Amino acid sequence: MKQDERTCARTPLLLHACCAPCSIEPILHLRKEGFEPTICWTNPNIQPIEEHNLRLDTMRAYANELGLQLIVASDDRDGWERRVAGAGFDRERRCRACYAQRLTELCQVACERGFTHVSTTLVVSPYQLFDVCHDVFKKLCDAQGLTMVWRDFRPYYPEATRLSREADMYRQNYCGCRFSAAEAAFDRQSIRDERKAAKAAARAQMQSKAHVS
Ligand code: SF4
Repeated sequence: MKQDERTCARTPLLLHACCAPCSIEPILHLRKEGFEPTICWTNPNIQPIEEHNLRLDTMRAYANELGLQLIVASDDRDGWERRVAGAGFDRERRCRACYAQRLTELCQVACERGFTHVSTTLVVSPYQLFDVCHDVFKKLCDAQGLTMVWRDFRPYYPEATRLSREADMYRQNYCGCRFSAAEAAFDRQSIRDERKAAKAAARAQMQSKAHVS
């Protein structure tokens, strides 16, 4: 069978991609299942704009490498501020609104371009709110008559990390918005503090043992 015949036999699917590293495994597995993904970029959540552009460039380069089409859809940053930012550090409320904005855009593009199947790379990272994302996406797909291709790709996250490092792909250390950047920095500092405290406790224990003997 020729390559173009194989491609034709596949089911076209519009895949919302949050970044290149998180796209590796979904593309691989969805292709194995017989889907032909087209990447849809709609991530107005990524701040600052330089970071957004860097992630988009990385995604574009990866899509090119795989020969996949990439659609850059609306990145309504003002809309994100209006709809999402007000939730501040209320993580669930904020992420729900953020998923809703991005996946609404995905579904709109899918309808305009005649896709019947949609999916998202948000199902890879264990840091995302999986059930909240499912709830938001399902409602949107049901309302638009689209087939949501929902898979739990979280077990593949370590492999995606390994492959993206191996490929020297740009990898960010926070989800995207300024709130997530602050949360991630806080978490990293807490881990550092815990390690420091554990080391100090171990040192103190060794010193006291040496003192006794
Ligand atoms: S943490 Fe991620 S998903 Fe949640 S609001 Fe921020 S950018 Fe959006």
